[in-house]
Amino acid sequence: MNNELSGNGIRNGEQYLAGLRDDRDVWLRGEKVDDVTSHPGLSRGARTLAGFLDKQFDATLQDVITYEEDGTRYATSFLVPKSKADIEKRGAAFYQWATWSNGMFGRTPDYKNASVMAFGSAADFLAQGKPEFAENMRNYYQYVRNNDKVLTHTLVNPTYSHEQAKEGKYSDKVALQVVKETDAGIVVNGARLLATLGPHADEIEVFPSTLLKASEENLPFAFAFAIPINTPGLRLICRDSYDHEKSHFDAPLSSRFEEMDAVVTFKNVLVPWERVFMYREPLLCNKAFADTNAVVHMMHQVACGKLAKAEFMVGLLCAMAKATGKDKDMNVKGQIAEAMWATETVRALRFSAEAHAEADSRGIFVPARRPLDTSRNLFPKMYPRLVELVQLIGSSSLMATPSEADITSDIADDIGQYFQTVNLASKDRIALFRLAHDVAVSGFGNRQALYERFFFGPQNVMASIYFDLYDKDEMMDRVDLLLK
Ligand SMILES: Cc1cc2nc3c(=O)[nH]c(=O)nc-3n(C[C@H](O)[C@H](O)[C@H](O)COP(=O)(O)OP(=O)(O)OC[C@H]3O[C@@H](n4cnc5c(N)ncnc54)[C@H](O)[C@@H]3O)c2cc1C
Repeated sequence: MNNELSGNGIRNGEQYLAGLRDDRDVWLRGEKVDDVTSHPGLSRGARTLAGFLDKQFDATLQDVITYEEDGTRYATSFLVPKSKADIEKRGAAFYQWATWSNGMFGRTPDYKNASVMAFGSAADFLAQGKPEFAENMRNYYQYVRNNDKVLTHTLVNPTYSHEQAKEGKYSDKVALQVVKETDAGIVVNGARLLATLGPHADEIEVFPSTLLKASEENLPFAFAFAIPINTPGLRLICRDSYDHEKSHFDAPLSSRFEEMDAVVTFKNVLVPWERVFMYREPLLCNKAFADTNAVVHMMHQVACGKLAKAEFMVGLLCAMAKATGKDKDMNVKGQIAEAMWATETVRALRFSAEAHAEADSRGIFVPARRPLDTSRNLFPKMYPRLVELVQLIGSSSLMATPSEADITSDIADDIGQYFQTVNLASKDRIALFRLAHDVAVSGFGNRQALYERFFFGPQNVMASIYFDLYDKDEMMDRVDLLLK
């Protein structure tokens, strides 16, 4: 990797797409995908991300979404925060990236960049395993940043038995494990759930879970490494695509933001030692995301993105209500106010975390954890409710959604006449409610809700960690005082 450490910083979309045209082993609908940049179920998601990367060269955005160091520009998500202002800059960049998809392309590269930055800055943590693991991580941060690589990650072993998983044990029938050690590296076999953006990524991080703790005896399952997606033996098995090749009018979101999720399988995959960061250390693995603050920096990216998404949902609800004049109705106002409260809660949590950022023991600034942790526990509950509000306010209009082709067909007169509302011409009303349909009814929309419910981990486990970390003593003392 050493000769690859130097790079030119930010990449444009064409450079990114060219990097995806390799011999990666991606499977979709029973066939091996030849080229993810031209496959009908995958190409538009890839091109969307390419368009986002192009924005890094937009002079009006560069101050926010990039930073300069020794004459080279890098994505802001790689910036090691040395002040509160740096934290705010990172937050502004996360938010900016999310606005381009209104949060519907959840796994933009800044999410993983936040984690790589944190691990790179806290690499001494990994030296507790072996000193060279720390060096590996410092090099990996340089490599990813300097070459603007797009990463996915997979943190979770498939559950074979719930009882076994609750004890932190993994099944060797399905879970990813080390089967051999050689001079060149470790050899791994098994599967991992799940890699969002996998087919569209350059690299995959295979790390322990941020949440699910492994038991002490899980030695063959306890590791962290990163490899290129086209590493021999690594396979991505995609779910069905939600990009059904419809026009942007017919499917405004799924035609643009299909980021794809894939199960990852490993058949005797050789991971070179220089790409190994933790090995046979379950207890270290369990602490890694917390002790390096990677989880906090990731939560920061997430809260900023969820703010953009919640704002969009408010905008959508207001536009839908306005279409028929429902926005004058007190009950409807009350329903939309609920979405506004959700949005303002996420906003307040984001800015509170930034305002209370402090330097950690390594001198790296970290946003306050508690507001971000509150946001990551609340949003999985808020988002399904926002979707429900779109359904409640949209009602049958979500079905009065003929396709673009109908608008110019032989029944164009009927469409023009019967789909209009007091505030919208037929075509505009259909466009708006097709968008709402893609949010709240389509396969794409339902996957979004599932993503929000689960992508950071099981809700009960996240809530239980939140409870454990919450500083309760002073509050309980006040209760005690009253009882004395
Ligand atoms: C759309 C989508 C995208 C995703 N993208 C990614 C990704 O990119 N990378 C990634 O790594 N993951 C991803 N995930 C996976 C996500 O991390 C998991 O879905 C989540 O952690 C829940 O795990 P599970 O799916 O195995 O759920 P379940 O099968 O419900 O398992 C939950 C886990 O929690 C354990 N558990 C439950 N209750 C308890 C308890 N009381 N005490 C202890 N343990 C308990 C279970 O035993 C099990 O291990 C994604 C998920 C979705 C839906």
